[in-house]
Amino acid sequence: MIPLLDLVAQYHTIKPEIDSAILSVLESGKFILGPQEKAFESEVAEYLGVKHAIGLASGTDALVIALRALDIGPGDEVIVPAYSFFATAGCVLTLGATPVFVDIDPLTYLLDVNLLEKAIIPKTKAIIPVHLYGQPADMDEIMAIAARHDLKVIEDNAQAFGASYKGQKTGAIGHIGCLSFFPSKNLGAYGDAGMITTNDDLLAEKMRMLRVHGWKKKYYPEILGYNSRLDELQAAVLRVKLKHLDKWNAKRRELAAYYNPKLAGSGVTVPFEAPNRTHVYHLYIIRTRMRNELKQKLSEKGIASEIYYPQPLHLSQPCQGLGWREGLLPVSEQASLENLAIPIYPELTGEQIDYILSRIKLIT
Ligand SMILES: *Cc1c(COP(=O)(O)O)cnc(C)c1O
Repeated sequence: MIPLLDLVAQYHTIKPEIDSAILSVLESGKFILGPQEKAFESEVAEYLGVKHAIGLASGTDALVIALRALDIGPGDEVIVPAYSFFATAGCVLTLGATPVFVDIDPLTYLLDVNLLEKAIIPKTKAIIPVHLYGQPADMDEIMAIAARHDLKVIEDNAQAFGASYKGQKTGAIGHIGCLSFFPSKNLGAYGDAGMITTNDDLLAEKMRMLRVHGWKKKYYPEILGYNSRLDELQAAVLRVKLKHLDKWNAKRRELAAYYNPKLAGSGVTVPFEAPNRTHVYHLYIIRTRMRNELKQKLSEKGIASEIYYPQPLHLSQPCQGLGWREGLLPVSEQASLENLAIPIYPELTGEQIDYILSRIKLIT
């Protein structure tokens, strides 16, 4: 079986470094908010070109804590694309605020900036653009609209670590950026982990408090916070992997460039790269009306594929009662019926990719 992603193969390419990093944490006796986490924060801040990076327990926590830092809660609206991983909308609901869905662009699957301004009302407090599949959203337009309406922008950067927009790394453009190091992400931990990035000193201070029960001085909470830290074992693993990230992302781009022309004639739609940005291909998405049939037949031929995502956010159960129904966001709805992710990861061999291509051509 060719998997969608092969984390065991990846581990074998970096095993000595990983093993010694993990052992050194075990020998240190420090497991939460220690030297590894601190060093990883500085390394990410430098890599992205931001002032502050704050390690957390997950990408979902990063989104929730970002919204909390902006004082978003009941009565507030937050604009999110209708097509993303559920956490992009879930974080808003968690805080009692209301997600407002905007449809996506049919070519890039990113928030359609032409529809953005119409969704803004006085209750709107923030926009969460998602750099979906590893491709940066239209940040110039989003930042300009946000500035006109005095809104905050939280980049959901979970799928795009290392991507850039006009030479600037994603996560360094909005007011706050949120990273996930879920194992399958381009930079993945061996468990859950996440991070917040920002250039704002005051927001950074508040978010550092929010991750430890809302205190600066231990045992004296000043606000109601959470328990959400990036642990030392994950930080040590992530520090090793960060050194390989650029090489891995370049390899993903190379694989996409190999897939694209070969798939273009076969009846499936290949990913569209918008200008002025570097897509890091967290996922390689093809599109076809016979998606379910293709997925089934690929599986019979030993090729894994996955649907990201089978349901647009406005039709999800937790969003019932917000006034959305089928037909209101047609581009997202159509994408959920036609999109399919096929294997893309740095360790994918030439032989494997040629086999995948030959099977898709036979089926479509
Ligand atoms: C993975 C992901 C998240 C959530 O990250 P976790 O670390 O799994 O909590 C949020 N948004 C998007 C777009 C994601 O892909």
